[in-house]
Amino acid sequence: MAKSATKASYKKILSDLQEHNKWFENSIPLIASENVPSPAVKEALLSDFGNRYAEGWPGERVYAGCVYIDKVEIECMNLAKKLYKAKFADVRPISGVVANLAVYSAFTNPGDVMIAPSIPAGGHISHGKKEHSGTAGLVHGLDIEFYPFDADEMTIDVDKTKAKVEELKAANRLPKMAMFGGSLFLFPHPVKELSDFLKGYNIHINYDAAHVAGLIAGGQFQDPLREGADTMTMSTHKTLFGPQGGLVLGREEHAEPIKKATFPGLTSSHHIHHMAAKAIAFAEALEFGKQYAKDVIKNAKALADALSDAGFKVLGEKRGYTKSHQIAVNVLDYSDGGKVEADLEKANIIVNRQLIPGDIKAGRNYFHPGGIRLGVSELTRLGMKSAEMKEIAGYIKNIVIEKKDPKKLAAKVKSFRKDYQKVHYCFDNKLGAYEYVKLR
Ligand SMILES: *Cc1c(COP(=O)(O)O)cnc(C)c1O
Repeated sequence: MAKSATKASYKKILSDLQEHNKWFENSIPLIASENVPSPAVKEALLSDFGNRYAEGWPGERVYAGCVYIDKVEIECMNLAKKLYKAKFADVRPISGVVANLAVYSAFTNPGDVMIAPSIPAGGHISHGKKEHSGTAGLVHGLDIEFYPFDADEMTIDVDKTKAKVEELKAANRLPKMAMFGGSLFLFPHPVKELSDFLKGYNIHINYDAAHVAGLIAGGQFQDPLREGADTMTMSTHKTLFGPQGGLVLGREEHAEPIKKATFPGLTSSHHIHHMAAKAIAFAEALEFGKQYAKDVIKNAKALADALSDAGFKVLGEKRGYTKSHQIAVNVLDYSDGGKVEADLEKANIIVNRQLIPGDIKAGRNYFHPGGIRLGVSELTRLGMKSAEMKEIAGYIKNIVIEKKDPKKLAAKVKSFRKDYQKVHYCFDNKLGAYEYVKLR
């Protein structure tokens, strides 16, 4: 009895995995932090590297058996350095959050002040305060201050930031680190405009490129390491080509503290199969990244324009809505971000609700915020262009404004998706983007 119940749950897990793939094959994936990897990246994830340990640095490992792992990791670091024109790369952090923890650990002490974007202003919870369970505050004990934010320009306010840093200094709370980058990220942050000022106070500047790493790699967003950022952290799977993982970049002088923070500080296994898959993704970005980044930004602009034409309040209007892969929409005229997210999901359109400037003051929370966020990285990688963006804006209007039946629309979405089942901007694409690989 118990045995057959176990077998049933084993089978159920595998069939749910398969169903998920089928669902995504028939959906419009618009989560800005997601992308779809190439078959080669998936192949690396299935390799035996995933069963090994390679603690330490290539050539200085703790265990034997790392001959090929060392070769791939050295190549991975070289490709990362080439892609971002950086002197030093640590490819071991297993996620963007771990990459951020590595720079917190390397360059600050608990109790130090860090200035970062607040969440409604686009910040990420890994930059957040202890009382919000933010990683920086809760795990590393940093004392967080927020940048003044300009909601019309949808970016950090340069003059008010300077004034705030002076005030903090006067109160004996000068920041040790300034964090740029975020999760709701429509326009480049003023790194160039603030870096000389911040360096005048010896403040370490880190740029969190989790969302825009692929756009930076393609030379289409901003170039933080040339604009004055000391170090740059990122996730490798949002606008970059996957797999899920992290990366830290810096100059030679940053190498030792970052290496120690990553291992033994923050990792034991660094998920070697993911490291290998990152190496492949970096090679793909070097070869195809420029065109991809251009196409992503063009698609985001096309979707934003079409949504605005459809009657939606798209944020950042003053600046043309977006210069990244993202679009943010204020949906308070119809209901709230949580309700809109759930309605769209029923029509196989996958988006996320989003806190937007003004939400916290108005008493709205993360479950029922004022906005939704859309990202076009995955649709672009599937080969979609401006015409498809217009069609998608129409579907979103059907559900949110016209309150049409989501079931009927889901069927439309399914047929719309038929021609976009391969991953583009990669060397090999024999396997379908969501094709389920059965090994049993
Ligand atoms: C997504 C995100 C992260 C976290 O990355 P993970 O790889 O999911 O750990 C960190 N910072 C920012 C700005 C993000 O958007």
